[in-house]
Amino acid sequence: MSAPASRSAKPAGGPAKRKRRVYHRRKVCRFCADKTLKIDYKDPRTLKYFITERGKIIPKRISGCCAKHQRSVSQAIKRARTIALLPFVGSLEQG
Ligand SMILES: [Zn+2]
Repeated sequence: MSAPASRSAKPAGGPAKRKRRVYHRRKVCRFCADKTLKIDYKDPRTLKYFITERGKIIPKRISGCCAKHQRSVSQAIKRARTIALLPFVGSLEQG
C-alpha cells in the first residue's frame, strides 16, 4: 500500500512583517544654514530653486524654508516677476 503523495504544504509562517522606516529628515532652511546666501529679487538663480517649472512658488513644507525666509523668498519672487526676471507662468516655449 503505497501512501499517496502528500500535498506539499506551505510552511507555516506568520504574516510578513513590514518594517516601517520613519525618516525624520529635518529640513533646514538653507538661508538660515548659510548666512552668506541672500534672498535677492535681482538674483533669479537663487529664486529659481523656489519655483516650479510652471513658475509657481514652492510651498515651505517642500522647500524646507522657515517661515521668515519663505516669506522673503516669495516676496522676492513676486518682485522678480514684475521686472520680468521670473515668469508668472511656466515656459511658453514648448508646443
Ligand atoms: Zn530661515
